[in-house]
Amino acid sequence: MNPGKRHSPTSFAPEPPRLPLAQLPTPLAPMSRLQAQLGLAQRLWVKRDDLSGVLGSGNKLRKLEYLFGAARAQHCQAVITCGGVQSNHCRATAVLGARLGFAVHLVLRGRRPAVADGNLLLAQLVGAATSFHAPQEYREQLPRLLKEKRAEYERRGMKALVIPIGGSDLSGMWGYVRAAEELRQDMAREGIEAAEIICATGSGGTQAGLIAGAARYQLPARIWGVNVCEDARYFERKISADLEQWQARHGGAEGAGKEAIRILDAYAGPAYGVAPRPVWQLIRLVARTEGLVLDPVYTGKALYGMVEEARRGRFDPRREMIFLHSGGVYGLFPQRQRLWEEMQPSHRDIRNAPGN
Ligand SMILES: *Cc1c(COP(=O)(O)O)cnc(C)c1O
Repeated sequence: MNPGKRHSPTSFAPEPPRLPLAQLPTPLAPMSRLQAQLGLAQRLWVKRDDLSGVLGSGNKLRKLEYLFGAARAQHCQAVITCGGVQSNHCRATAVLGARLGFAVHLVLRGRRPAVADGNLLLAQLVGAATSFHAPQEYREQLPRLLKEKRAEYERRGMKALVIPIGGSDLSGMWGYVRAAEELRQDMAREGIEAAEIICATGSGGTQAGLIAGAARYQLPARIWGVNVCEDARYFERKISADLEQWQARHGGAEGAGKEAIRILDAYAGPAYGVAPRPVWQLIRLVARTEGLVLDPVYTGKALYGMVEEARRGRFDPRREMIFLHSGGVYGLFPQRQRLWEEMQPSHRDIRNAPGN
């Protein structure tokens, strides 16, 4: 091998084991009515990763195919992961665990509710064990909590793999590296020469994977993440660390330097999981216009960020827009009260939601 030479696709490290469960490729569909409603000059598309399958596991499924592949390769019988009480990632892990015959334990941030709802209800239905921790303890003690849980499973004779929050480690990143190749084929098929791809960013693995994958497969697109928590500085650091690790291990991401990390900050709202009114209005608009359901935690905030930035001329008008629908519909139900209020007649006449 010539060390000075750029990695070519054939010289990459081999892909790690993957348990194929997702229905791929997911559709790339036009959203022409929404495009017209929003007055966007560019063509607007949606990449339907909400249809990846396994009970609406969304973007987490692409990552978990590799994470469970690693668990099986390491002869684990259990997986342990963590997140908020309504974490889509935790529920997806629980469902896949049941599907594949792994015990699953979820270390959750927040109080045990009297009656489970949404993602938590489903995770418990498929048999995941759960432990609940106050936010402060979770924030300060998470590594210890996970380690203790793993030791507990090992005492019971089960080897356990700990999956980090959002499934965003080097294994999980593979899911969106490969999704970039899928998107390249989508774009070629639809005659899209160049694109702006917008996704929701919660733990950064989806965005990091797409950036590394865009470099690896020469995808003619720029990747933008709308952070739904933390801020731009936090994710610039996190994703840059992910990309450095990826490059050191696998190569092929030379084109993915810091300048490739594009964060659209200012749309996280008052807190993680809490959406301001314009996001709810946009959720209603998209539902009525395209029959597409977004959620208030991730995809609603992300699309709102995209719409606002498009109005400000942030995107290249020669590039078509591709919004990644990453799933998350069960996050809507625990917030049914808020949605219901938004849908009442007194609110109905407010027509053109975002920006008002
Ligand atoms: C987890 C999640 C995201 C964020 O993906 P990350 O890779 O964690 O940044 C986006 N949308 C939905 C619906 C999610 O569940």
